[in-house]
Amino acid sequence: MKRMIIKIALIYLPVIMMGQAYTLENCETNLSSNAPSFYQKYFQCVDISLSSSGNYVNLYYSGLAPYESWYYESGNPNHIDYVSQGAGYFQVPNSYITEYDYVVSIPIDPEARLNLTIDADAVDGEVGTSNFEYPMGSVGSALNGVNMYNPCASPPDAIEDEAYSFDYYSGHPAGPTGIYHYHTTSKGPLEVLEYKGIIETPTVGSGEIEVFGIMCDGVVVMGCTELDGSVPNTSDWDAQNGHVHDMVDELGTTQFTNRYHTHVCYDEITEDDTDGNGYQEHEFTPEISYYKTEGMGQNYNRCAAMSDPIEEDMVALGDEITPGDFSLYQNYPNPFNPTTSIEYDLTKSGSVDLAIYDLMGHRVRTLVFGNQKSGFKTVVWDATNDFGQAVSAGMYFYTLNTSEGSLTQKMLLIK
Ligand SMILES: [Zn+2]
Ligand SMILES: [Zn+2]
Repeated sequence: MKRMIIKIALIYLPVIMMGQAYTLENCETNLSSNAPSFYQKYFQCVDISLSSSGNYVNLYYSGLAPYESWYYESGNPNHIDYVSQGAGYFQVPNSYITEYDYVVSIPIDPEARLNLTIDADAVDGEVGTSNFEYPMGSVGSALNGVNMYNPCASPPDAIEDEAYSFDYYSGHPAGPTGIYHYHTTSKGPLEVLEYKGIIETPTVGSGEIEVFGIMCDGVVVMGCTELDGSVPNTSDWDAQNGHVHDMVDELGTTQFTNRYHTHVCYDEITEDDTDGNGYQEHEFTPEISYYKTEGMGQNYNRCAAMSDPIEEDMVALGDEITPGDFSLYQNYPNPFNPTTSIEYDLTKSGSVDLAIYDLMGHRVRTLVFGNQKSGFKTVVWDATNDFGQAVSAGMYFYTLNTSEGSLTQKMLLIK
């Protein structure tokens, strides 16, 4: 028998990576051009597309936290040491963040429930006491693709006690390898708005504009401001600090017409009745869904995250822009300080490695490492926000490596 000569082609060099942290900068974000501008403007680390009929926004997310957390396993580049939040309360050390694929199909024009009065009786801080409560579990996405749970803890725990299990970003996993989530009592990820250049102060309570995320039925979760940065009108709030009005952003763009939204506006989760209305603070967050959610999720009454959208995407994500030739474009601005945008076109889906190198050829920063769909991509590099590693002024190269080839451009960081 003729012996076959096997040519060994090293298609992929086995790369032993130090690992790359999952961040707002390098997480994959696919915001379809047919998605409403609200989603395009405020979300990162998610895929968002209009559904085939145009009636739903399909919002896909992973539940990963794009920052350091002690709920990432040691060895994960996002891992930091566990910090106890206090004794005698519910805490979940040795629980870890696991990636899952979620989608919520959010109605474009959600229909308000008839005869629903959101009063103190409806909003009772308990799970499972009303038909219209969000179920326990993932019922929405924060701006950064982290799950949002309803404001309550699993019975019989109180959310005030669960708050001691939160990490610095007000999230925690459910169970040992559980679903990482915020509750709608949690402080929202304002760092996404900072990353997108919308605000400068990502501190809840003093952010110029405070948007946290959106629930599966279309309720928008806000912080202490309206979408334009103004102080909410509390006179028309219901029992979960919600109200209906047009949501107009700081540029005067109407992002939603007559949209129900709630305002999560306090500094800490407390068992105290701070404003003396007879209820603990946590109850003023979305516990009851305002909009009808027929056909969605559990018992057709209460929406929840799903594994498949109600309807497929109108246009497959990544396909709506006809890719040009495989290209790596000149960054802009250039010279720059401290941020610059790098754009490229992929004609094929596949593995992508986009990194910055110094003149000596040392890899200074990995911007993208993983699989991406074909299409036009933009990545922002913030040279000041580099995990505390100072990046000095000077010339740098950025190199895009894919199965289509390798391309390099130069750029100049000035100080
Ligand atoms: Zn929880
Ligand atoms: Zn409002």
